[in-house]
Amino acid sequence: MYELPKLPYPYDALEPYVDALTMEIHHTKHHQTYITKLNDVLKAHPELQEKRLDELLMLLEDLPEGIKAPIGNNAGGHYNHTLFWQMMDPKGGGEPDGKLGKMIKQEFDGFQNFKINFTQAALNRFGSGWAWLVVNPRGVLEIISTPNQGSPLKDGNIPILTLDVWEHAYYLKYQNRRQEYIDNWWNVVNWEFANSLLTA
Ligand code: MN
Repeated sequence: MYELPKLPYPYDALEPYVDALTMEIHHTKHHQTYITKLNDVLKAHPELQEKRLDELLMLLEDLPEGIKAPIGNNAGGHYNHTLFWQMMDPKGGGEPDGKLGKMIKQEFDGFQNFKINFTQAALNRFGSGWAWLVVNPRGVLEIISTPNQGSPLKDGNIPILTLDVWEHAYYLKYQNRRQEYIDNWWNVVNWEFANSLLTA
């Protein structure tokens, strides 16, 4: 049975960029709901209980038709949010150093250019979804976006950085101003964690 992971910081730690009330509702209500529903689906499918979360998402296309959508939505929701909380840190922001910093500069023609491209992917995701920096199956950094709780894992991509652009992630503070939410979010990006995903 999956359980809601604790946040690595208090709800108000990312103020003023991400507000405390949004963080609390996002974590205790939205994330919890994906976990509750995932556990409900798995209760009826004991054969899937021994699979790891990332395995379920990689296997998604091979699952029986009836559970593809509920597993995709809820395992995806749990996986994406678990990563997202760790992607942020009150002492975050700035530019990445290390291997990731070097690769971003090389592959995107500079950090500023990367930031513009990632922001565009997050901004242009119609409706709900996520923007991602991934290592694609060819071993190259790539910016993509997924709709709803879609996972980059099912296409063989390894997540390095992600941003939740569902309205529930920003509406209380930013209302319809997704661009402003994204611009502010760069101040709390945990590049150390992103770097650790690259080297893992
Ligand atoms: Mn969310």
